[in-house]
Amino acid sequence: MNGCLMHRFLSNRVIVKSGDITNEKVDAIVNAANSSLLGGGGVDGAIHRAGGCSILEECRKIRSTRYPDGLPTGEAVITTAGNLPSKYVIHTVGPVYSASSQPEAELKNCYLNSLALLKKQGLRSIVFPAISTGVYGYPKEEAAAISSLAVRQFLETDDTIEKVVFIFYSLSDMDVFIKNQKFAQL
Ligand code: ADP
Repeated sequence: MNGCLMHRFLSNRVIVKSGDITNEKVDAIVNAANSSLLGGGGVDGAIHRAGGCSILEECRKIRSTRYPDGLPTGEAVITTAGNLPSKYVIHTVGPVYSASSQPEAELKNCYLNSLALLKKQGLRSIVFPAISTGVYGYPKEEAAAISSLAVRQFLETDDTIEKVVFIFYSLSDMDVFIKNQKFAQL
């Protein structure tokens, strides 16, 4: 069964597993949102469907008060999690691989800014989906290397975050991540 297989890195602070992010009970799950913050397909659609209207209402407020032109790529904002089992949702916008002039820096920023926001809120556990590797077309091998390096870099100078989970919808996506992760080398 999916979810039975779990890999641990960085003294158990990082867990890699497969499953559905909407079932995760942590301080914050991360949404691979689009800049409108008003919902979309993939993981974004799943989070809004399962979380209910309150998440969308908060996103609308963030748009009108702070980001009238949309959330820039690589930035992150936080809302409560409505009906989801987690406490908060951190929304970040990954790069569209073919359209970005600096996809690597932008993808890295998604992870770093999400972790910085988690820390700023005094929260300790987070689950990331594989940002940009769906509709946004980021090659999964490259995304694995970038996201694992970003998280490792952040955790090396942080002693407040207890658990970072990378979750994959399929076992084969998880395997690609495991083969390409760079937790062990900087
Ligand atoms: P993006 O637009 O950033 O590429 P997508 O939502 O299309 O985002 O896909 C990002 C990744 O999230 C893909 O690898 C996809 O398989 C995965 N994904 C989609 N739905 C879920 C879910 N409910 N839980 C975990 N991962 C999911």
